[in-house]
Amino acid sequence: MATYDLLVEDAYTVEHDDVVDIAIEDGVIREIAPEIDGAERVIDAEGNFVSPGLIDCHMHIDKSFAAAGERVPKGNDETFLFDRIARQEREYFDQASIEEIRENATRDVQMAVAAGSTYLRSHVTVDAEIRGTDNMEAAVGARERTADIADLQLVPAGRDELTSEGLETLHEAIEMGADAPIRDPVLLGGSDPASGNNDIERSFETWFEVAEEHDVDIDLHIQDGGTLGIYTLERLMAHMRRVGYQDRVTASHSFALAHIPDWRVEEVLSEAAELGLKFVTCYQSTRSEMPVKTMLTMKDVILGHGTDNDRDFVFAQGNADSVEALFVEMNKLHGDRTFVEDYRWFESNEGMAALWDMITYQGARVLGIEDEYGIEEGNPANLVVFDEPSPQWTIISGGTREYVLKDGAVVAEDGELLPEYRVVD
Ligand SMILES: [Zn+2]
Repeated sequence: MATYDLLVEDAYTVEHDDVVDIAIEDGVIREIAPEIDGAERVIDAEGNFVSPGLIDCHMHIDKSFAAAGERVPKGNDETFLFDRIARQEREYFDQASIEEIRENATRDVQMAVAAGSTYLRSHVTVDAEIRGTDNMEAAVGARERTADIADLQLVPAGRDELTSEGLETLHEAIEMGADAPIRDPVLLGGSDPASGNNDIERSFETWFEVAEEHDVDIDLHIQDGGTLGIYTLERLMAHMRRVGYQDRVTASHSFALAHIPDWRVEEVLSEAAELGLKFVTCYQSTRSEMPVKTMLTMKDVILGHGTDNDRDFVFAQGNADSVEALFVEMNKLHGDRTFVEDYRWFESNEGMAALWDMITYQGARVLGIEDEYGIEEGNPANLVVFDEPSPQWTIISGGTREYVLKDGAVVAEDGELLPEYRVVD
């Protein structure tokens, strides 16, 4: 007697003390109990770990795979220099068609979903000079083609928004991204008001004005270091207060938090917690002195994680794999600032659980979906079934994604997207 569409049996979750069965009907988790009978299809988790769909808070799908297609990563023969990146980005964007960018972006989303991430946020480069809104058009196209496997928030980020043409392009890009049946389909992006735009106040005034006009949230790259970066965060928070944008802003990277003493870290994070300024870090660039433990354990501080670039001219390394990213974080945070009393905390079970929180519940708060996220009755059935018994063993082993479920449908098995969900190869 089948009552439910699908049953995930014998699942260990972080949400429940005992192993449970999870019953799904019409894409929604309907019942969670120790023993449920009756479903058209049964997936036996065999007591292994089942997570809510992973959350990748920071990608760049419009650049992805720009380095692919040759025996070794294209344009990767010199070390990282901003000039080199700017030149290669320009060369790539000068010749790439909307169709090519859309295909690569679609490929990137597919890769993320096969790795278990069904909730994504991607920045998209827009400007008046090189691409106009072409990358946004490509990203929106990729989102439409992958709507049944991922919820994708798009963050158009201008490079010349302090010019009138650039500002107009940014407005247009936001309008293009607004139409999708997910929470916050589009946000406003931007980066480095000091070193990038050379005008902190005008940048913030412009960004908040645009965001308010479209009633969208904000996610900025704050990459400036040291006291300049901290001053930038302070001004960002001042503008959040001025405009009433509490809980609506993300500061991606925020490297400067790695450069200041503990007492100052606590001051800045307390203010951020009070205002609801959210942070995102990305494994390739997380500074080893970043106060990640403090951020993950301090009340009301929100820190999500992103896999950033995939196989492009910024980072040739990148598999859109949040679990792999946590393995890197666990190892590189060895030398973090709590070296004395907490050396290797991130390798402890508690530390790995906190890392896991970044790609699940903390990420949900960054994306503003916390009220519909997690393995609870009534939530969308976005799940990942692993072949390991816990988040800790999953991080250590890289954990095979045996099944990825999006809205109750199995969309990937054994780390591969199912053919019927594959738009590009
Ligand atoms: Zn980025």
